Amino acid sequence: MEAQAVKKAAQMIRDSSHPVVLTGAGVSAESGIPTFRGEGGLWKNFRAEELATPRAFRNNPELVWEWYNWRRGIILSKKPNPAHHAIVSLQKQQQEPFAVITQNVDSLHTDAATERLVEMHGNIFRSRCTRCGKKVFEKKTTTNHPLCGCGELMRPDIVWFGESLEAGNVQSIYKELDLCDLLIVVGTSGLVYPAAGFAETVYSKGGQIIEVNPQPVIPYALALAEKAGEVLPLIAESHKTM
Ligand code: NAD
Repeated sequence: MEAQAVKKAAQMIRDSSHPVVLTGAGVSAESGIPTFRGEGGLWKNFRAEELATPRAFRNNPELVWEWYNWRRGIILSKKPNPAHHAIVSLQKQQQEPFAVITQNVDSLHTDAATERLVEMHGNIFRSRCTRCGKKVFEKKTTTNHPLCGCGELMRPDIVWFGESLEAGNVQSIYKELDLCDLLIVVGTSGLVYPAAGFAETVYSKGGQIIEVNPQPVIPYALALAEKAGEVLPLIAESHKTM
Protein backbone atom coordinates (compact mmCIF):
# COMPACT_ATOMS: atom_id res chain seq x y z
CA MET A 1 0.00 0.00 0.00
CA GLU A 2 1.42 3.36 -1.00
CA ALA A 3 1.38 5.47 2.15
CA GLN A 4 2.17 8.63 0.18
CA ALA A 5 -0.80 8.18 -2.13
CA VAL A 6 -3.11 7.52 0.83
CA LYS A 7 -1.95 10.72 2.52
CA LYS A 8 -2.25 12.68 -0.70
CA ALA A 9 -5.82 11.43 -1.26
CA ALA A 10 -6.78 12.37 2.31
CA GLN A 11 -5.31 15.84 1.82
CA MET A 12 -7.14 16.32 -1.48
CA ILE A 13 -10.43 15.47 0.24
CA ARG A 14 -9.64 17.78 3.15
CA ASP A 15 -8.78 20.64 0.74
CA SER A 16 -11.74 20.12 -1.56
CA SER A 17 -14.61 22.59 -1.34
CA HIS A 18 -17.10 20.18 -2.89
CA PRO A 19 -16.06 16.52 -3.08
CA VAL A 20 -18.44 13.93 -4.51
CA VAL A 21 -18.13 10.14 -4.34
CA LEU A 22 -19.18 7.88 -7.22
CA THR A 23 -19.36 4.15 -6.52
CA GLY A 24 -19.88 1.01 -8.60
CA ALA A 25 -20.12 -2.70 -8.01
CA GLY A 26 -16.49 -2.87 -6.78
CA VAL A 27 -17.39 -1.12 -3.52
CA SER A 28 -19.64 -4.06 -2.65
CA ALA A 29 -17.29 -6.79 -3.89
CA GLU A 30 -15.75 -7.27 -0.44
CA SER A 31 -19.26 -7.72 1.00
CA GLY A 32 -19.48 -10.80 -1.23
CA ILE A 33 -21.72 -9.36 -3.94
CA PRO A 34 -20.42 -10.34 -7.38
CA THR A 35 -19.62 -7.54 -9.83
CA PHE A 36 -21.22 -7.81 -13.27
CA ARG A 37 -18.08 -8.24 -15.24
CA GLY A 38 -15.91 -10.06 -12.75
CA GLU A 39 -15.82 -13.67 -11.66
CA GLY A 40 -19.30 -14.92 -10.73
CA GLY A 41 -20.87 -12.33 -13.04
CA LEU A 42 -22.74 -14.93 -15.07
CA TRP A 43 -26.09 -16.45 -14.12
CA LYS A 44 -27.32 -19.58 -15.95
CA ASN A 45 -25.05 -18.53 -18.81
CA PHE A 46 -26.80 -15.16 -19.23
CA ARG A 47 -24.88 -11.91 -19.11
CA ALA A 48 -26.42 -9.06 -17.10
CA GLU A 49 -26.80 -7.06 -20.32
CA GLU A 50 -29.16 -9.74 -21.63
CA LEU A 51 -31.44 -9.69 -18.60
CA ALA A 52 -31.43 -6.09 -17.37
CA THR A 53 -33.35 -4.73 -20.34
CA PRO A 54 -36.99 -3.76 -21.04
CA ARG A 55 -36.95 -6.20 -23.95
CA ALA A 56 -35.89 -9.16 -21.79
CA PHE A 57 -38.70 -8.30 -19.38
CA ARG A 58 -41.26 -8.04 -22.18
CA ASN A 59 -40.16 -11.40 -23.60
CA ASN A 60 -39.84 -13.33 -20.35
CA PRO A 61 -40.75 -11.46 -17.14
CA GLU A 62 -40.55 -14.65 -15.05
CA LEU A 63 -36.94 -15.25 -16.09
CA VAL A 64 -35.99 -11.65 -15.30
CA TRP A 65 -37.75 -11.82 -11.91
CA GLU A 66 -36.05 -15.16 -11.19
CA TRP A 67 -32.69 -13.48 -11.77
CA TYR A 68 -33.61 -10.49 -9.56
CA ASN A 69 -34.89 -12.82 -6.83
CA TRP A 70 -31.62 -14.76 -7.02
CA ARG A 71 -29.71 -11.48 -6.63
CA ARG A 72 -32.02 -10.29 -3.82
CA GLY A 73 -31.33 -13.60 -2.04
CA ILE A 74 -27.57 -13.09 -2.26
CA ILE A 75 -27.73 -9.48 -1.12
CA LEU A 76 -30.05 -10.20 1.83
CA SER A 77 -27.30 -12.11 3.59
CA LYS A 78 -24.65 -9.41 3.01
CA LYS A 79 -23.53 -6.48 5.09
CA PRO A 80 -21.74 -3.21 4.34
CA ASN A 81 -17.95 -3.65 4.36
CA PRO A 82 -15.18 -1.33 5.60
CA ALA A 83 -15.34 0.62 2.29
CA HIS A 84 -18.98 1.63 2.86
CA HIS A 85 -18.21 2.54 6.48
CA ALA A 86 -15.10 4.55 5.56
CA ILE A 87 -17.14 6.67 3.14
CA VAL A 88 -19.55 7.48 5.99
CA SER A 89 -16.61 8.35 8.31
CA LEU A 90 -15.26 10.71 5.67
CA GLN A 91 -18.68 12.32 5.29
CA LYS A 92 -18.78 12.94 9.04
CA GLN A 93 -15.22 14.28 9.15
CA GLN A 94 -15.82 16.89 6.43
CA GLN A 95 -17.53 20.14 7.45
CA GLU A 96 -20.51 19.22 5.33
CA PRO A 97 -21.32 15.64 4.31
CA PHE A 98 -20.65 15.22 0.58
CA ALA A 99 -22.99 13.50 -1.84
CA VAL A 100 -22.52 9.83 -2.71
CA ILE A 101 -23.78 8.79 -6.14
CA THR A 102 -23.99 5.03 -6.53
CA GLN A 103 -24.65 2.81 -9.51
CA ASN A 104 -25.29 -0.04 -7.09
CA VAL A 105 -28.77 -1.23 -6.38
CA ASP A 106 -27.89 -3.33 -3.34
CA SER A 107 -28.90 -0.91 -0.53
CA LEU A 108 -25.55 -1.40 1.27
CA HIS A 109 -24.75 2.33 1.32
CA THR A 110 -28.12 2.89 3.00
CA ASP A 111 -27.43 0.07 5.46
CA ALA A 112 -24.16 1.84 6.35
CA ALA A 113 -26.17 5.04 7.08
CA THR A 114 -24.70 7.02 4.18
CA GLU A 115 -26.02 10.54 3.97
CA ARG A 116 -26.98 12.39 0.79
CA LEU A 117 -27.13 9.19 -1.26
CA VAL A 118 -28.33 9.10 -4.86
CA GLU A 119 -29.12 5.57 -6.07
CA MET A 120 -28.97 6.43 -9.74
CA HIS A 121 -29.89 2.93 -10.99
CA GLY A 122 -32.64 2.28 -8.45
CA ASN A 123 -32.86 -0.27 -5.66
CA ILE A 124 -33.20 -4.01 -6.04
CA PHE A 125 -35.66 -4.27 -3.15
CA ARG A 126 -38.09 -1.81 -4.74
CA SER A 127 -40.58 -2.82 -7.42
CA ARG A 128 -42.86 -0.67 -9.53
CA CYS A 129 -46.20 -1.39 -11.17
CA THR A 130 -45.99 -1.51 -14.95
CA ARG A 131 -49.44 0.10 -15.15
CA CYS A 132 -50.12 2.48 -12.24
CA GLY A 133 -46.47 3.13 -11.25
CA LYS A 134 -47.06 2.30 -7.56
CA LYS A 135 -43.77 1.50 -5.81
CA VAL A 136 -43.24 -1.14 -3.15
CA PHE A 137 -40.09 -1.54 -1.05
CA GLU A 138 -39.65 -4.91 0.65
CA LYS A 139 -36.38 -6.32 1.90
CA LYS A 140 -37.08 -9.92 0.89
CA THR A 141 -37.47 -12.04 -2.22
CA THR A 142 -40.79 -12.06 -4.03
CA THR A 143 -42.56 -14.37 -6.49
CA ASN A 144 -41.45 -14.58 -10.11
CA HIS A 145 -44.78 -13.01 -11.13
CA PRO A 146 -45.52 -10.32 -8.52
CA LEU A 147 -48.75 -8.42 -9.05
CA CYS A 148 -49.74 -4.92 -7.98
CA GLY A 149 -53.01 -4.27 -6.10
CA CYS A 150 -54.36 -2.97 -9.44
CA GLY A 151 -53.83 -6.43 -10.96
CA GLU A 152 -50.95 -5.59 -13.27
CA LEU A 153 -47.42 -7.01 -13.20
CA MET A 154 -44.74 -5.35 -11.05
CA ARG A 155 -41.21 -4.84 -12.40
CA PRO A 156 -37.96 -4.22 -10.54
CA ASP A 157 -37.56 -0.47 -9.91
CA ILE A 158 -34.19 -0.51 -11.62
CA VAL A 159 -32.90 1.60 -14.50
CA TRP A 160 -32.27 -1.01 -17.18
CA PHE A 161 -29.91 -0.79 -20.13
CA GLY A 162 -31.51 1.52 -22.70
CA GLU A 163 -33.67 3.35 -20.12
CA SER A 164 -33.31 6.91 -18.84
CA LEU A 165 -32.39 7.82 -15.29
CA GLU A 166 -35.17 9.24 -13.12
CA ALA A 167 -35.53 12.99 -13.74
CA GLY A 168 -35.10 13.88 -10.05
CA ASN A 169 -31.85 11.90 -9.85
CA VAL A 170 -30.52 13.50 -13.05
CA GLN A 171 -31.14 16.92 -11.53
CA SER A 172 -29.40 16.09 -8.23
CA ILE A 173 -26.45 14.45 -9.98
CA TYR A 174 -25.71 17.29 -12.39
CA LYS A 175 -26.14 19.88 -9.62
CA GLU A 176 -23.50 17.99 -7.64
CA LEU A 177 -21.16 17.60 -10.62
CA ASP A 178 -21.47 21.31 -11.42
CA LEU A 179 -20.16 22.24 -7.98
CA CYS A 180 -17.75 19.31 -7.70
CA ASP A 181 -14.01 20.04 -7.57
CA LEU A 182 -12.98 16.48 -6.56
CA LEU A 183 -14.61 13.27 -7.72
CA ILE A 184 -13.69 10.10 -5.84
CA VAL A 185 -14.47 7.15 -8.10
CA VAL A 186 -14.66 3.81 -6.30
CA GLY A 187 -15.00 0.38 -7.89
CA THR A 188 -16.47 1.09 -11.28
CA SER A 189 -15.23 -0.20 -14.62
CA GLY A 190 -16.25 2.97 -16.46
CA LEU A 191 -18.25 1.08 -19.09
CA VAL A 192 -21.80 2.10 -18.24
CA TYR A 193 -22.91 5.61 -19.22
CA PRO A 194 -23.76 8.20 -18.04
CA ALA A 195 -21.73 7.40 -14.88
CA ALA A 196 -18.70 6.55 -17.02
CA GLY A 197 -18.62 10.18 -18.17
CA PHE A 198 -18.74 11.86 -14.74
CA ALA A 199 -14.96 11.86 -14.20
CA GLU A 200 -14.43 13.51 -17.58
CA THR A 201 -17.13 16.11 -16.78
CA VAL A 202 -15.37 17.09 -13.54
CA TYR A 203 -11.84 16.88 -14.94
CA SER A 204 -12.61 18.96 -18.03
CA LYS A 205 -13.69 21.89 -15.86
CA GLY A 206 -10.52 21.75 -13.79
CA GLY A 207 -11.59 19.33 -11.04
CA GLN A 208 -9.45 16.53 -9.66
CA ILE A 209 -10.14 12.81 -9.65
CA ILE A 210 -9.19 10.06 -7.20
CA GLU A 211 -9.76 6.49 -8.36
CA VAL A 212 -9.92 3.51 -5.99
CA ASN A 213 -9.85 0.29 -8.00
CA PRO A 214 -7.38 -2.64 -8.15
CA GLN A 215 -7.59 -2.17 -11.94
CA PRO A 216 -7.74 1.58 -12.44
CA VAL A 217 -9.05 2.92 -15.74
CA ILE A 218 -8.95 6.73 -15.50
CA PRO A 219 -5.63 7.99 -16.87
CA TYR A 220 -5.74 11.45 -15.27
CA ALA A 221 -6.75 10.30 -11.76
CA LEU A 222 -4.70 9.85 -8.62
CA ALA A 223 -4.93 6.06 -8.69
CA LEU A 224 -5.08 3.91 -5.57
CA ALA A 225 -4.83 0.49 -7.14
CA GLU A 226 -6.12 -1.37 -4.10
CA LYS A 227 -9.28 -2.95 -2.78
CA ALA A 228 -11.72 -0.29 -1.58
CA GLY A 229 -12.25 -2.01 1.78
CA GLU A 230 -8.52 -1.86 2.47
CA VAL A 231 -7.58 1.58 1.23
CA LEU A 232 -10.64 3.72 2.06
CA PRO A 233 -10.36 3.12 5.84
CA LEU A 234 -6.69 4.22 5.63
CA ILE A 235 -7.68 7.38 3.80
CA ALA A 236 -10.39 8.09 6.40
CA GLU A 237 -7.87 7.51 9.20
CA SER A 238 -5.30 9.82 7.60
CA HIS A 239 -7.99 12.46 6.94
CA LYS A 240 -8.91 12.38 10.65
CA THR A 241 -5.41 13.40 11.72
CA MET A 242 -5.24 16.44 9.38
P1 NAD B 1 -18.48 -3.55 -13.07
O1 NAD B 1 -18.75 -4.95 -12.65
O2 NAD B 1 -18.48 -3.22 -14.50
O3 NAD B 1 -17.04 -3.12 -12.51
C1 NAD B 1 -16.61 -3.34 -11.21
C2 NAD B 1 -15.30 -2.63 -10.98
O4 NAD B 1 -14.95 -2.78 -9.63
C3 NAD B 1 -14.13 -3.17 -11.82
O5 NAD B 1 -13.46 -2.08 -12.42
C4 NAD B 1 -13.23 -3.86 -10.79
O6 NAD B 1 -11.84 -3.75 -11.11
C5 NAD B 1 -13.56 -3.08 -9.54
N1 NAD B 1 -13.36 -3.81 -8.28
C6 NAD B 1 -13.47 -5.14 -8.05
N2 NAD B 1 -13.23 -5.40 -6.76
C7 NAD B 1 -12.97 -4.21 -6.16
C8 NAD B 1 -12.66 -3.81 -4.83
N3 NAD B 1 -12.55 -4.71 -3.85
N4 NAD B 1 -12.45 -2.51 -4.59
C9 NAD B 1 -12.54 -1.58 -5.57
N5 NAD B 1 -12.84 -1.88 -6.84
C10 NAD B 1 -13.05 -3.19 -7.13
O7 NAD B 1 -19.50 -2.65 -12.27
P2 NAD B 1 -19.97 -1.13 -12.46
O8 NAD B 1 -18.89 -0.31 -13.05
O9 NAD B 1 -20.62 -0.72 -11.20
O10 NAD B 1 -21.05 -1.17 -13.57
C11 NAD B 1 -22.04 -1.72 -13.96
C12 NAD B 1 -23.44 -1.80 -13.48
O11 NAD B 1 -23.47 -2.90 -12.64
C13 NAD B 1 -24.01 -0.71 -12.67
O12 NAD B 1 -25.08 -0.25 -13.38
C14 NAD B 1 -24.54 -1.36 -11.40
O13 NAD B 1 -25.87 -0.97 -11.18
C15 NAD B 1 -24.50 -2.79 -11.69
N6 NAD B 1 -24.18 -3.73 -10.61
C16 NAD B 1 -24.52 -3.46 -9.32
C17 NAD B 1 -24.19 -4.34 -8.31
C18 NAD B 1 -24.56 -4.00 -6.90
O14 NAD B 1 -25.54 -3.33 -6.67
N7 NAD B 1 -23.75 -4.40 -5.93
C19 NAD B 1 -23.50 -5.52 -8.62
C20 NAD B 1 -23.19 -5.77 -9.96
C21 NAD B 1 -23.52 -4.85 -10.93
